[in-house]
Formats: sequence, C-alpha cells, structure tokens
Amino acid sequence: MNIATEVNKEVLGQIAAESIAKIDPKSTNGKRWINAIAKATAEIETNPFMTYELESHSLLMMSETSNQTYTANGTCQCKAFANGFPCRHRAAARLITIYIERTR
Ligand SMILES: [Zn+2]
Repeated sequence: MNIATEVNKEVLGQIAAESIAKIDPKSTNGKRWINAIAKATAEIETNPFMTYELESHSLLMMSETSNQTYTANGTCQCKAFANGFPCRHRAAARLITIYIERTR
C-alpha cells in the first residue's frame, strides 16, 4: 500500500500520541524514541516514497534527505541503527504496523 495518500492522519496521530505516552523519557534512549516517533509521524504524512509490505511487516522508505532506501521491521540499514540508537524508520514501521492492525 502507498502510505502517504491512504493514511488517516487523525488515526495516525492518535497512535503516535499513545506510543509516545508509553515511553519514559528518562529511560535509555527514551527521548530518542520520542523524537523518532515524532519525525516518523511527520514523514509518514508527507513522504510519497514509502510502501508497506503486509506479509513481512516491513516498511520500505526512500529518504529524501539522504537519497537512501531503508527497509525497517525491527532492523534497519541506517547509521543510527548501526550505532545502537532509535531511528525514525523503525518508529515508522512500528506505527504503520499498529495502524494497519487497527484499521483493517
Ligand atoms: Zn533507520
């Protein structure tokens, strides 16, 4: 499915808010995850180069800033992931997984 054109922003915002509320900002990487979720939410709404594979629960996204393509479903190919940090790709994959479970 193509995400940017099909996603209901209200539902997505709700899921993002719930996900952020569950994170303790004082926990390891807590603030980074909160940031990643916020960035992911904005990107899901605007990045037209994002598709979701239902079978593998993985998100394919092309980054407009780095011209890289990332696939995320718990692992990722970006620098942040390589350094052991949260990244917006994984946050986006998670948000969309929840979104699809909730709206289908
Ligand atoms: Zn990543």
